[in-house]
Amino acid sequence: MGSAYRESRQVLASSRDDAITAAARAARRYLILPSEFRRSVESVEPVDEQYARAHHVILQREVVHRFEPGLGTRPRDVQPLPRAAAVDPWGVDPASLRRESRVVTTCLACAGTKKVSCRECSGSGRLRCGYCGGSGLVRGQRGVRNCQNCSGRGDRKCSNCANGRVDCLDCGVTGRVYASLEIVESRRDQVRVHPRNAAASAHVRVDDVADFDAGPNSWVNELEDDNTFDRPDDNLHA
Ligand SMILES: [Zn+2]
Ligand SMILES: [Zn+2]
Ligand SMILES: [Zn+2]
Repeated sequence: MGSAYRESRQVLASSRDDAITAAARAARRYLILPSEFRRSVESVEPVDEQYARAHHVILQREVVHRFEPGLGTRPRDVQPLPRAAAVDPWGVDPASLRRESRVVTTCLACAGTKKVSCRECSGSGRLRCGYCGGSGLVRGQRGVRNCQNCSGRGDRKCSNCANGRVDCLDCGVTGRVYASLEIVESRRDQVRVHPRNAAASAHVRVDDVADFDAGPNSWVNELEDDNTFDRPDDNLHA
C-alpha cells in the first residue's frame, strides 16, 4: 500500500459587518427584525478559526491469477500453477510479470476432466416438472390423474446437460488453461478535515477531493447561518 500526503490550510475571516448580517439573519427565527437586532448589538468579537485538510491517496495492489482456455496445448505442457503469494506487487513490473509467469496448467474449474456440473439442474441431470409442481399428479375433470408432462414422475430430464455434466468453457473443453499472474490496482481518495470547527462546516464541499485540488480561489465559504447562537429558552432578550 502506498500513500501520498498533502496539506492545505485556510483561514476564515469575516468582517464585523458580515458577522452582524449573518447573526441578524439567524435572529429572524425568533421573530426579531434585523434593524432591532442591530440596535441590540453591544460588541463584536472576531474569532479566526483554522482548520487543515489532508488529501490521502491510497493505492492498493493485489496479485491475482488470470486464466485463458488452453487451446492448442498438450498434456505434457502442464506445469504447476504460479503462486500469487510469492510475488511482491510493488516490486515487479506488471507487464513483464504477466508475460513471464504465463504457464499451461490444469484447469481448476473441471480439474482436467473437461466437464463441470450443470447449473440448471445442480448436476442432478433432472429438473422438477413445472406442470405438476413436482408431485407427478394433476387435477383433471374426473379427479386426480398422472401428469402427462412428466408421465407421473414429478421431474423431467434436464435439457441443458448430459447426466448433470456440461462442457467446461473455462478451458475450452481441453482440461488445461493458460495461467498467468496479474497486478490489479485500485485507488481510493480520502480528504480528512481537522478540526471540524464552525469554519470547516461553513466550507462547502470541504470533504470533496475535487474541491481540494481546485485551489483556494474556487473554494466556497458561505457564512450564512449563525450556528453558535445560544440563549436560555431561545430568548434573545433574556
Ligand atoms: Zn476446464
Ligand atoms: Zn442439467
Ligand atoms: Zn409433471
